Amino acid sequence: MKQSRQPSNGIISDPETLADALGVDPEAIRRVHEVYPLQISRYYLSLIEEEGDPIWRQCVPDLEELNGEGEEDPLGEEADSPVPNISHRYPDRVLFYISHVCAMYCRFCTRKRKVGDPQSLNDEGIAQGLDYIRQHPEVRDIIVSGGDPLMLPVEKLDSILGSLRAIPHVEIIRIGSRVPVTFPQRVTPELCAMLKKHHPLFLNTHFNHPREITPESGHACSMLADAGIPLGNQTVLLRGVNDDPAVMKRLMQKLLTIRVRPYYIYQADLVRGTDHFRTSVQEGLKIMASLRGHTSGLAVPHFVIDGPGGVGKIALIPDPVVSFDEEEIVLKNYEGFLCSYPTHPRERQADEVR
Ligand SMILES: *Cc1c(COP(=O)(O)O)cnc(C)c1O
Ligand code: SF4
Repeated sequence: MKQSRQPSNGIISDPETLADALGVDPEAIRRVHEVYPLQISRYYLSLIEEEGDPIWRQCVPDLEELNGEGEEDPLGEEADSPVPNISHRYPDRVLFYISHVCAMYCRFCTRKRKVGDPQSLNDEGIAQGLDYIRQHPEVRDIIVSGGDPLMLPVEKLDSILGSLRAIPHVEIIRIGSRVPVTFPQRVTPELCAMLKKHHPLFLNTHFNHPREITPESGHACSMLADAGIPLGNQTVLLRGVNDDPAVMKRLMQKLLTIRVRPYYIYQADLVRGTDHFRTSVQEGLKIMASLRGHTSGLAVPHFVIDGPGGVGKIALIPDPVVSFDEEEIVLKNYEGFLCSYPTHPRERQADEVR
């Protein structure tokens, strides 16, 4: 009964309703909600199997968020921001924030300071962002992000993508969206038909746990893939969610079954209110070592640290180099076997040259 009275098609955004749905006391949720926004779809909530499980940890406010250190903007996104809704850190591509709303406010979000805040975006900001891109011919790749771009009304997103497409130097557009994971019902034939008009378009989504791959999220991804959109995935390495080689390997493999190609695994950023999610760097390297060679190369993403201070993403790999000199490089394979490869091409004799 309660469910049918929920406004905004099955999205919960107040502490009382959430506490009620979970059968817990609302006080802790209320206190966290005073600081950080709250939003969860009924669908995502239904994936919870027990208190504190990997689904719960990603979406239910926790008092731990009020503890700890960290910065609001550890990646220096504001410093790389020539106009309010653009981050321009790399030579040929920019992040363009076009939405402040997400279907769910993930408790570990790097942009905790921005999402859910209506002040962080308006039409004027979007117009300014478009102008900036028009004036910068070196920008050939636009990552539309937020918040979640797929939470915008379809016509509005259509209009923004159309404006980007009309800029001659914009070669590709990428959408970053967690909607296929947290609110797959929002991926409709109407949305896909609209997106299809703006090719070449890519979409990176954000699955963090194999249990998020359901008939519903699989269907959403298959509709997007059928619209010709190559799908990638960015996972955040999170304590108590996916900091386990077996879980991560299963996630990467299952993503391929719904036509999503693993792209990045991120070491968690140093954002205030997310300390309880952070793992050691070794944990990530151990996970990478459990993937490469042990499963399809297609299931092996890059493990990156988005360096503090706005230096950008830096990829880490378990070091396979045992020794390297002018003679040979000695390498270790995924099973620990060693091999040697000559460092330089063999000198050819004069009479071989012809
Ligand atoms: C992540 C990011 C990009 C895109 O990086 P790729 O490695 O090309 O996916 C671009 N700009 C900013 C500011 C970013 O943080
Ligand atoms: S969907 Fe992405 S931007 Fe939105 S709250 Fe989750 S992690 Fe943050």
